[in-house]
Amino acid sequence: MPAPPAPGRDAVDGRRRSAHGLSLTGRPGERHWDTLARVNVSSRFDVSGFGVVVTGGASGLGLAYGEVLGAHGARVTLIDVDADRLAYHAERLRGEGLDVRGAVADVTDHAALDRAIDEAAETYGRLDVAFANAGIDSGIGFLGAWAGDARPRVPEGAIERYDDERWERVIDINLNGIFATVRAAARHMRPRGFGRIVVTTSVAATQVEPAIGSAYMAAKAGARHFVRATALELAADGIMVNAIAPGFFVTNIGGGHAHSPAVQEAVAKEIPMHRVGRPDDIKALALFLASPASDYITGREIAIDGGWSLGRAD
Ligand code: NAD
Repeated sequence: MPAPPAPGRDAVDGRRRSAHGLSLTGRPGERHWDTLARVNVSSRFDVSGFGVVVTGGASGLGLAYGEVLGAHGARVTLIDVDADRLAYHAERLRGEGLDVRGAVADVTDHAALDRAIDEAAETYGRLDVAFANAGIDSGIGFLGAWAGDARPRVPEGAIERYDDERWERVIDINLNGIFATVRAAARHMRPRGFGRIVVTTSVAATQVEPAIGSAYMAAKAGARHFVRATALELAADGIMVNAIAPGFFVTNIGGGHAHSPAVQEAVAKEIPMHRVGRPDDIKALALFLASPASDYITGREIAIDGGWSLGRAD
């Protein structure tokens, strides 16, 4: 049995390689790109030993990212402003044998965030993956329900009554926090010439969700394009930057409104797959984007939404 290939390297052995790293095979006079049919692709998902940080890692989707990376052998630092929840989950996951630590930091405090990410990188001697994920709901929007035919206008949610404080808080966490996380990660990744940055955007980056305030749409659209800008800048340094755009997932965001069975039922009717998302649904995509399996993909946003953003079917 040949040894499995190291992460990030082609697994084609003993054959002539082209300038692009793929082997050239075929009948005499015929040139074609080898399809790599004999490669064990599962090894491309190997993240064992990777140093990972996840902002907003104490709950919901960030916790799911931390769990899946930890379960596959990565060393994970969950960064969150909620110290109690962080301590609980870090201890729970260590109890399950995962290499997980918690670091309390608010993504709006860029100096504290830098320290948390620097400490994680020092602890592991490397930083391979950063999930820029922490985010909040923007509160009331101009319509009063998430789904269904009865979606009345809500006067308190009108643009004329949107105050600066609420707008700025959402931009500060959901956009500026992403910038600060990506910046801190790039400082560690660029010198090593390797990195995977995964930003949690939302289908709200491209599709308006009127039940929540418009700062959320603005922040997520900004994050989406920021992913493209940093992906372009960092591609030559082996750092891939991509986004996950979730649809409706049951997490604790916005005070946990998504836990309501009535809300879930109403939203599920509008999702083509007729069910809402659970954090476990996002784990395989997170592992894909964090691992060498997604080498050669950068600057992309992948929606994971049961088809929600396609429109309504039945
Ligand atoms: P969640 O509330 O369950 O988890 C978010 C975590 O972020 C919490 O642990 C919270 O304490 C932390 N956090 C909030 N503000 C912070 C700050 N300033 N500094 C550090 N940590 C902070 O919510 P979630 O749904 O898992 O949200 C994760 C991301 O997913 C967010 O960016 C959110 O916008 C995005 N998202 C969620 C959904 C959904 O349906 N749940 C859909 C699309 C996008």
